[in-house]
Amino acid sequence: MLDSIRTRLTLWYTGVLALVIVVLCGVAYFIFWRSAVRRTDLNLVELSNSFLVTLRAELEDPAGPEDFHTAAHEAIDEHHFRDTLYAIVDQTGKVILTSVETPSANPPSRAERPGQSASANPPSRAERKVLSSASFQSFLDASLNSDRLFVQIPVSQAGFRGFAQHFTAKGKTYILIILQSLHPQREMMEEAGTVFAWLIPIAVLLASGGGYFLARKSLAPVVSMSSHAGRIGAENLHERLAVQNERDELGHLAQSFNKLLNRLSESFDRQRRFMADASHELRTPVAILRGESEIALSQQARSPEEYRESLEVMHHEAERLTRIVEDLFTLTRADAGQYPLQPSHFYLDELVTECMHSARTLAQAKKISLTFEVAPESPIQADESLVRRMLMNLLGNAIKYTPEFGRVTVSCQCNGKEYAVNIADTGCGIPAELQPRIFERFFRADKARSRAENDGGGAGLGLAISRWIAEAHHGRLELTRSDSAGSTFSAYLPVDSAPSKSPG
Ligand code: ADP
Repeated sequence: MLDSIRTRLTLWYTGVLALVIVVLCGVAYFIFWRSAVRRTDLNLVELSNSFLVTLRAELEDPAGPEDFHTAAHEAIDEHHFRDTLYAIVDQTGKVILTSVETPSANPPSRAERPGQSASANPPSRAERKVLSSASFQSFLDASLNSDRLFVQIPVSQAGFRGFAQHFTAKGKTYILIILQSLHPQREMMEEAGTVFAWLIPIAVLLASGGGYFLARKSLAPVVSMSSHAGRIGAENLHERLAVQNERDELGHLAQSFNKLLNRLSESFDRQRRFMADASHELRTPVAILRGESEIALSQQARSPEEYRESLEVMHHEAERLTRIVEDLFTLTRADAGQYPLQPSHFYLDELVTECMHSARTLAQAKKISLTFEVAPESPIQADESLVRRMLMNLLGNAIKYTPEFGRVTVSCQCNGKEYAVNIADTGCGIPAELQPRIFERFFRADKARSRAENDGGGAGLGLAISRWIAEAHHGRLELTRSDSAGSTFSAYLPVDSAPSKSPG
């Protein structure tokens, strides 16, 4: 299940979203709590101010109590609300009065303070507990040194918020301490927590459903592409994937895949053509061999001359077959990058001279003059036997396609970086429209002439192999001129370029 991108995307999305929601809720919870505490602090300050106003009014009232203790008692009595605890402390830190000791209730007619419920308020257990707690004691100690002080007193479940303020009455300094229970705030936060606890899983569930739907929708084209691609095989290689939007990523993917199919299809076609051409080329000599042997075997009384003639024909075709098979083998290995080149140092001008010497008999048979415009020493590093093969192909063609009494001229030049071996003839030339195709495998401009020559006839592979040899040496082979006056082929070979091991 985790192998599906859809599921993984949904899980990632849900996980990240859940994390974000939890963090946001945590931050919101913290901010709510801070704001509730700040509101409590404001309330405490207000309570303190109003208490002091009442206390001063009691003390200044001529009909009121004369001593501080009674006046404070009455002021506490008047301001004592539920969840609020008053204490008055003298300069030495001694608690001289607390609302716990004055448990008289406010009359119901008294106005309620905002945020508080005025009611009968006997001291709660929490209030008694807080006054005897160590935290309260340290609060008292700290309040002696500070005019105004807010603290958190972690007593009982909810805890208390404490406020201390110095004031003077009847010439003495006292500290008013007001503690307010944080119970309502805690309750509010608990409610918020409960809401979050419900909302988070619901939000995550809804979001993961949406995420799954989105992932499914956006990956649907990939699924359809993959199933279409799965149906494309050798027999329907012409089919292409549908490109819905060529500008988006999936469009690019489909286009790249289609381009790959184009290349594959071209390569398939080339391969098919190659196979068809190869079998066609092999069929002719095999048919001649069979026919000749059948005739020889069917005739009982044949003269030795007749047998010899048949054997010569068969030998000729066998040679031709061997040559085609060898050429095919060379090209197949070259295509697979498996033709091991054996580079060595030699002199190109010497090799050209040797090749011309070998071709001399062929040229003499047609009374063709063969000339080498002697070149200076031309050292080169290359595969000598392959370069010889290329030169012999080019020389052979020049002689083959040049009529009697023609001329074949070879020259070798160097421009410092590469050698250019030019083989020029005064032959029939190649029609302009066919020139771009002469390096194709099995291509022959004039099949009759190519086959009929007494060298055994070519299969149209010579130039393809020659071009591969030049390219294997990081060079090139070009037809530089061809018209009715003849043709010139130029092979360019780098002076110091080591041939690649796996030319393609
Ligand atoms: P082939 O074995 O038929 O000669 P190549 O690959 O060597 O095959 O040559 C391909 C074709 O190019 C030949 O069939 C011929 O038509 C043409 N060609 C090659 N060299 C020459 C040339 N020097 N003059 C005229 N045509 C040529």
